[in-house]
Amino acid sequence: MGFISLGCPKNLVDSEVMMGLLDRAGARLTAHPEEAEILIVNTCSFIDTAKQESVDTILEMARYKASGSAKRLIVAGCLVERYRDEIRKSIPEVDAVVGTGELESILEAAGLARPQVITVPGLFNILSGSGQAEVRPGQESRAATHKHTGDLARTVGQGFSPDIESARPAVALAPEATSRPEGDLRERQGRFSRDDWQGATHLLPTYLYDESTPRFLTTPRSSAYIKIAEGCDHPCSFCVIPNLRGKFRSRRFESVVAEARQLVARGVREITLIGQDTTCYGEDLGLKDGLATLLDALAGIEGLRWLRFLYAYPNRITGRLLETIARHDNLCKYLDVPLQHAAPSVLKRMKRGGGADIFLKTLEKVRAAVPGIALRTTFITGFPGESLRDFELLEEFIKEAKFDWLGVFGYSDEEGSGAFSLDAKVPRRTIEARKRRLMKLQQGISKRAKQQWVGRELVLLAEGESEETQLLWEGRTQFHAPEIDGKVYINDYGDLAALEPGRFYKAQITEAHEYDVVAHIRSGPL
Ligand code: SF4
Repeated sequence: MGFISLGCPKNLVDSEVMMGLLDRAGARLTAHPEEAEILIVNTCSFIDTAKQESVDTILEMARYKASGSAKRLIVAGCLVERYRDEIRKSIPEVDAVVGTGELESILEAAGLARPQVITVPGLFNILSGSGQAEVRPGQESRAATHKHTGDLARTVGQGFSPDIESARPAVALAPEATSRPEGDLRERQGRFSRDDWQGATHLLPTYLYDESTPRFLTTPRSSAYIKIAEGCDHPCSFCVIPNLRGKFRSRRFESVVAEARQLVARGVREITLIGQDTTCYGEDLGLKDGLATLLDALAGIEGLRWLRFLYAYPNRITGRLLETIARHDNLCKYLDVPLQHAAPSVLKRMKRGGGADIFLKTLEKVRAAVPGIALRTTFITGFPGESLRDFELLEEFIKEAKFDWLGVFGYSDEEGSGAFSLDAKVPRRTIEARKRRLMKLQQGISKRAKQQWVGRELVLLAEGESEETQLLWEGRTQFHAPEIDGKVYINDYGDLAALEPGRFYKAQITEAHEYDVVAHIRSGPL
């Protein structure tokens, strides 16, 4: 079986769950698509470029089906939720599709009988017998070349398409899958409407994995993600994720804690909590300050060195949450809060609210409560109606806020989103030019900030040889989330003959570049 996971860490966890289910059913992973009998692409459809990458990858894998080396091609994930019928009609090589709410259907899709329900003694006992090397999804696919540049409008053919709908097992609703009044209200307002999505199932996904679901970890040994919630009830008008992933629902508190314990027992030392909005965690379970309470419980797990959460919603950063981050040594001093814009008029059209003044106050509160905290955010340029003045306001805000890490997306006009019907669309060229301007601005801010790091002694997690040169190693500090932020390059091991990946060391920062820094190891492993 060959598995390619595209998109965000939330999709990666879904991939790991599907790989775990397949592994338990006897399938074995390979990193070489030409050796795989079954090829699975877990897709992303966040924005146009993500959709195109998904389609390109499906077509690339379809070549192995056409050449006869692969017997089955399965497409899973967000693209399926949106374009279920089109995929099956337009890419005849695709044998089956599996939506985000039907992960367990991967077994039928792969032609593997669903195993009897067995009592699982521990999450990883089953997986540890597989003898498989850990594979980073996505990397294997890049080895294969492809010539297809087509899109979903490819000619309709007569492919074998098993009826996944009727074959799909009744996916048990987790007992915790309740909803919040906010989600129910949004549903009545049509937020999750999929009626005009031809061919997409009209049932909203409700699936949640739990601690007994097998997961095949693909991240480096010492780090893992835990998805604590799924779906989203927010009304952001540029975003189709709620339509794809359903209403917000939290995993049971005990289930998350049990999974974290299992991961730590397996050797994981860094856990990153994810969800579309982690700061809503527990609201549907009747928990007050659910995320802070969960962090308190997880921080107490012996052996867990770094714990962090991503994707905070700005108006849900409570004093209790900040106080919790400040109190625990193993809670990374790191906050990822996607703000999307700073001009009040744009934020209003985005249906998010807030503005530069409010956000600056929030950031001030965060920095006062957790001194030295690293802040990450993302912005969207060229949202419909964004005037030059709105954009300049955003620039001024960025100069003042001085984020440690900043991502910029150009607005993508997504059918099914609220913003799709808005007028005053900004030309693509302007969107891209503004995106470049923000990145350039942040480059200067980041460079100056990283200069302040020189001379500091920090704990870093050694990750392995640099992808760029064997002469350097790469690592991260608590101020770097996995995969998304800059890097720490290690060019001097101090008294040590070698470093071990997944171990922590004390290091001194010796040089700073625009986003990355260079460090010398001082002592360790810790
Ligand atoms: S908070 Fe907004 S942008 Fe984020 S997933 Fe929910 S609707 Fe989309």
